[in-house]
Amino acid sequence: MNRVALARYDPAVSNVQALNRRRFLQSVAKTGAASALMSFSPLRAATTTQHVEKVIVVTFGGGARDEETFAPEGQQYIPHLVGELIPQATFFTQVVNRGILGHYVATASLATGCYETFNNFAPVSPANPTIFEYYRRDRHRRASDAWVIAPSNGFNHIGESGHRIYGKGLGATVVLPKQLLEVANGNRGADYEHLLRDNYESIVQLPSDGEHVISVHDLAELMQLSMTDFLAHARMIASPDELSLYIAQHLMQKIAPSFMWITLHDIDIAHSGAFSLYTNAIQRSDRICADLWQSIQNNPEYKGKTALFILPDFGRDGDTDAGGNGFQHHRTGDALSRTTWIIALGPGIRENITADRPVESIDLVPTLAALLQCNARFAQGHLLHEVL
Ligand SMILES: [Zn+2]
Repeated sequence: MNRVALARYDPAVSNVQALNRRRFLQSVAKTGAASALMSFSPLRAATTTQHVEKVIVVTFGGGARDEETFAPEGQQYIPHLVGELIPQATFFTQVVNRGILGHYVATASLATGCYETFNNFAPVSPANPTIFEYYRRDRHRRASDAWVIAPSNGFNHIGESGHRIYGKGLGATVVLPKQLLEVANGNRGADYEHLLRDNYESIVQLPSDGEHVISVHDLAELMQLSMTDFLAHARMIASPDELSLYIAQHLMQKIAPSFMWITLHDIDIAHSGAFSLYTNAIQRSDRICADLWQSIQNNPEYKGKTALFILPDFGRDGDTDAGGNGFQHHRTGDALSRTTWIIALGPGIRENITADRPVESIDLVPTLAALLQCNARFAQGHLLHEVL
């Protein structure tokens, strides 16, 4: 545990936040759905005995607060999560992130199951093996079976660690849709400027070292992606996350990979201080999650055998903390910015259940490994036994 980073973390606040989330959702369930949301009980049988063969992970872009999501005043922004997905899911209300609250390093920590400690703005690989490497090595899967779709050029090393036993050649294939768009458009960014903004809190433009990165041309070929179609679609959409959704749906149709990881990031526009752009992005992320779930249901390669995990990388600051700026940033390291949630749904995963015990964001990897039948032996988290 990093004592400096956690100096402001108060577990009692996390616990209150988790119970509030459960209460907020219960009030919705009572008014809207047929059955009320139940607390997890180890005695309750799973809804089905089907097995998970494929997994899709969505990080709920850049962190949102409960005031704009699960609280009564926030539920207007997440109608799909609240009304469609959570009633079919096991919902973890208290997922604590004890690591560094920068998007790349936090997302890398989610993917390794260890709190990575590298500089968030450095172009480096995670130190510990990623879930993609465990999966590909143990299950003898090709690179085309594990994909990461990531929001900004700073994420180009997330698919593969620098670990001496795993690492090179065993990672996920990483798609950076913005990079694809730049190349497809002949580096004439003007037409797509609204899609090409990079990470909203990047301080410097990082040099791309080119290592481990296959050429965009080879990548497009591997994806069976027509650049003409891609450009035509990009012209019609409003945000980088919609571009990521397009790539994900394209991969599902053409290649049907067993493992996809999609990092949404539009919500982080909150750093600009524009509340309406932040809530618009939450609404968009909510819709994208529902669209992905629908794509799973509409595709025989995925329907009935795919688990979907949705979780933020971390939260944002509270309104009352003098060290923060409310929704705008995530700089205080307080309990509100550290206490997130996980929505897990799919075959064999209990529906309409909350698990309120404190778990950690690094518990995701051991859980995914159990579902994908590989051994995440260097991961430091623990199994989320509620979904197994
Ligand atoms: Zn941010």
